[in-house]
Amino acid sequence: MPIDNEILSPVPIWIWVDPKTKLKHLTGGYGQPDMKKCLCSKKITTQTVVDVRDVVPYKEGKDYQQYCLKCLNMLRYEALEYKIYFAAVDTPVKGKTLGSEIIAGQLTRRSPPTELNKAPAKPKTAKIKDVAGSPPPKKYKHRLQSSIKPKKPKSTKSQMPKKRKTRSDKGVKRGPRTPAEPKVDKGSNINETHGEKSAKEIVGGRRDKRSRPSVEESP
Ligand SMILES: [Zn+2]
Repeated sequence: MPIDNEILSPVPIWIWVDPKTKLKHLTGGYGQPDMKKCLCSKKITTQTVVDVRDVVPYKEGKDYQQYCLKCLNMLRYEALEYKIYFAAVDTPVKGKTLGSEIIAGQLTRRSPPTELNKAPAKPKTAKIKDVAGSPPPKKYKHRLQSSIKPKKPKSTKSQMPKKRKTRSDKGVKRGPRTPAEPKVDKGSNINETHGEKSAKEIVGGRRDKRSRPSVEESP
């Protein structure tokens, strides 16, 4: 079956639980977009399907024995978008997952190149207020808060006073030198023992130029 786009699925893939065997089959996607049958061609006899995202990418979803192996195998011909959810599912081969067996192979293959179809002329848009607001998982929420909070005060406090000092100190010292030839000054300063300060002085010299004409203009 030719695949139209290796990354995006035309129709979501859903799980259908066989009421007799309790085995989880897959349906939708490229293979069974009308969802009358499973990917393994088994006829669907009930009206309810289960969201893949609430079942598969969890600890309970890792055991391959709860799924129809034929359906899992047919996942090979589905879009990467839905394969990703199954990445952590075990395989009958010990130590190997669907991610290492199916996804890694697809992503690292050299040829043929990943097949993609043309983008829609008008990308779908949304109002931010309608789509924003879903919180990140708690694990990451903690990390984000702790990493952002201490950095902000440190950066603002350390940067502000340094800039003010260099402006005022260097500005007073370099006042008489800068008007003649500022480029020569830079070279001479670097050659001197104060190598670290030279960069700051160059910055200070530039700011002198800006402030200087304003001082001259005002009187
Ligand atoms: Zn099946």
